Amino acid sequence: MSQKKESPRRQLLMQKKNGYEKLSPDDLRAMDEYCSAYIDIMNRAKTEREFVKETIRLAESSGFRPLERGTKLEPGDRVYRSVRGKGLCLAVIGREPMEQGTRIVAAHIDSPRLDLKPNPLSEEGGMVYFKTHYYGGIKKYQWVTIPLELHGVVVLKSGETVEINIGAQPGDPVFTITDLLPHLGADQMKKTMAEGITGEALRVLLGSRPDPDDEGDNRVKIMTLGILNEIYGIREEDFLSAELSLVPGFKAGELGFDRSLLAAYGHDDRVCSFAGFKALTELDVPDKTAVCILTDKEEIGSCGVSGAQSEAYDTFFDDLCRQDGSCLRVCYENSFCLSCDVTNAHDPLYADVDEMQNTTEINYGVGICKYTGARGKSGASDASAEVMGRLRAAFERDGIIWQSSDMGKVDKGGGGTVAVFFANRDIDTVDAGVPVLSMHAPYEVVSKLDTYMTYKAAKAIYKGV
Ligand code: MN
Ligand code: MN
Repeated sequence: MSQKKESPRRQLLMQKKNGYEKLSPDDLRAMDEYCSAYIDIMNRAKTEREFVKETIRLAESSGFRPLERGTKLEPGDRVYRSVRGKGLCLAVIGREPMEQGTRIVAAHIDSPRLDLKPNPLSEEGGMVYFKTHYYGGIKKYQWVTIPLELHGVVVLKSGETVEINIGAQPGDPVFTITDLLPHLGADQMKKTMAEGITGEALRVLLGSRPDPDDEGDNRVKIMTLGILNEIYGIREEDFLSAELSLVPGFKAGELGFDRSLLAAYGHDDRVCSFAGFKALTELDVPDKTAVCILTDKEEIGSCGVSGAQSEAYDTFFDDLCRQDGSCLRVCYENSFCLSCDVTNAHDPLYADVDEMQNTTEINYGVGICKYTGARGKSGASDASAEVMGRLRAAFERDGIIWQSSDMGKVDKGGGGTVAVFFANRDIDTVDAGVPVLSMHAPYEVVSKLDTYMTYKAAKAIYKGV
């Protein structure tokens, strides 16, 4: 048999290879080590507040300290500032002044979940429930009949703040939302998936035992309130000054016989947040100041005091600029930001939403996304050719396995990230991150290889781009 003719022009084609064909044995070892550190934090931090706490603890153990205004910083100094306990800014001071620009990795640490309504406790049919209002874009039917944990804080009338974390520890009770049995579900099953479970139906079952010392109404509710009061000092009106969320009660861990995948609640976007954070803590003294920004409220528009649009993040940069006499706006003009957020991984079970030549696939590396948005790129920052070129060069230099990313077929839908809010500050910004299966579901899946490559990508940005 004669061999097929091969034109030299074939070399011009873009090569797309499964990342496992390029990983060295050293990389494989480092990948497993990195992923186990990631899984560890995922099992300890299920809300933005908890993630801030955990990352501060880790940061302090690697030499970071709170940024104080007016102190002179030296190259190699490591500082952080919490944004009201729900966002976090960290920096490793570089050799060059702030005006020469910074290298930023920005990601968000909030995830879709069920928040309690301000007056949530209700008794119906001899059972007691929390009424909720969902946070972020969810498919409501996915949140019933799964174990839920309760996380958050309550500020009591006295002004004291109590922390609540129920369901994560062995022996803890869990909560759940019930669903109709199939035997009586014929009418429900005729509804669309958007209508089958409504927002108001997302009521969380909390208990069923009536107060034996009372003969009035709401005996189950007052029994539950009594327990909450005994443990936390809570009265019903204290829920008004609370932030309590129900999050899925699943353990984060390895998935599959080959353990090549990771399943967890909230990969979006802690998988990228941890990459940016971990890479920063491993930096020595960079040329340009390296900054990791972890924001809140991305899932509802990056608004508010702790969202990416908040001037709290500008104040952090400004405080860094003032300590060496730099101008904030010049610093921004010369900075580069990797907006590190997850993207859709091609799912062969739902292949028709993707345009295969431009979709991200599991194990093909960190997905670079030139633009996000929907219907004509609406709302995207759309990175320039020059910015894309700089990113490619940095990834090439450091052997980053990457793929290009475009969320779904044109006009199928879309999404956004924090990219536009950093670009609006006059910072060159581009999106890249980990492809996710079942994004925004209570249990999301990513690949170890893509997770590890995103961490290496963050390292490359801090090193220079
Ligand atoms: Mn995200
Ligand atoms: Mn999201």
